[in-house]
Amino acid sequence: MFDVHKIREDFPILKREVNGKPLVYFDNAATSQTPQVVIDTIVDYYSNYNANIHRGVHTLSQEATDAYEVARKKVQQHFNAKQAHEIILTSGTTHSINIVATGFTNLLSEGDEIIVSALEHHSNIVPWQMLCERTGAILKVIPMNEEGELLMDVYDTLLSNKTKLVFTNHISNALGTINPIEEIIEKAHKVNAAVLIDGAQSCPHIKPDVQALDVDFYVASAHKLCGPTGVGILYGKTEWLEKLPPYQGGGEMIEQVTFEKTTYAGLPHKFEAGTPNICGGIAFGAALDYMNAIGFDNIAAYEKELLDYGTEKLLEIDGLKIYGTSPNKTSVISFNLENIHPYDVGTIVDKLGIAVRTGHHCAQPIMDFYKIPGTVRASFSFYNTKEEIDALVEAVKKAKMMLS
Ligand code: PMP
Repeated sequence: MFDVHKIREDFPILKREVNGKPLVYFDNAATSQTPQVVIDTIVDYYSNYNANIHRGVHTLSQEATDAYEVARKKVQQHFNAKQAHEIILTSGTTHSINIVATGFTNLLSEGDEIIVSALEHHSNIVPWQMLCERTGAILKVIPMNEEGELLMDVYDTLLSNKTKLVFTNHISNALGTINPIEEIIEKAHKVNAAVLIDGAQSCPHIKPDVQALDVDFYVASAHKLCGPTGVGILYGKTEWLEKLPPYQGGGEMIEQVTFEKTTYAGLPHKFEAGTPNICGGIAFGAALDYMNAIGFDNIAAYEKELLDYGTEKLLEIDGLKIYGTSPNKTSVISFNLENIHPYDVGTIVDKLGIAVRTGHHCAQPIMDFYKIPGTVRASFSFYNTKEEIDALVEAVKKAKMMLS
């Protein structure tokens, strides 16, 4: 039985006040809040077994290594990767994408094509543009419609035997649209292109099965699903990870080093140079346990209720326009008030204790599409309530009154 009030007890930050009002945290698409069990895991690590991993024979090092590798296994199970070595622990989605984009430098030739969607976060645009600059490959874009959905018939026409890579997010951070990734992957594979799915926004709402998806690379950040910042994953099929060169050189990623030649370690260590975010990785495992105990089906059903309620209530405000109106969307509402800058709305609602994000959400091409400077984005998580949405609606009404 899903009991939001019980769940809220798990998050100490939800008890605080901001500007003398109870905090209403609706910036979950930027980062999620942290339950006590994850905080306890972090405190336990630094209190009891803080040590560098993989190299030590001493007890603390072995305890830390075991806990880190247990966390990798939890990630493997969560994403249903075939093997634990297919899970590279990185510093986050951005790092993971850059490993792949840099790794493809020697696998592309001038005139090869790579396809991205119009709905991308900058971290899924810029590394590929840099790859194009290095290789002479050409970047093509699947366009979107007014509802914020990808034009899949145009995607069909972009695919050809020149296509080497396709990448898109699973869910748009700016609009909440859920993209048809199964179809995107299947069609890309028909022309032998590899696919990278950016799961930064989907991982808090949907439990992906990378084997069922048959996706080549899947990336995500722990801080979007109740884990700490500075840790994330790159899932890659073994054959792809073996084909890609290491991203960084250093300790941990080697088999043997001489001044004449270095040989690299096997997976996953080849991509994990240097001391990783050990505590972060272990805490990520605890966050996955926490969310799986609540259940992703329960989370998705409750967040859909919040989305429907919030959409209905906000649309009752005259002059409020929502961007991203696909029926296939998650609990993100991006909106503007007529003739009012989103930043001004965000500032006023913050004075009332409500955290929303304002701006281009690292997705300037989407803002250009709608010809707006940005939006106000309220993104709901499973620990939010309808009462909090009521508070947002009242705050937006107040902002409208003050700014009109
Ligand atoms: N892709 C998407 C869709 C995102 O929403 C984000 C984070 N806002 C990122 C990539 C980048 O994630 P990170 O900053 O954790 O690397």
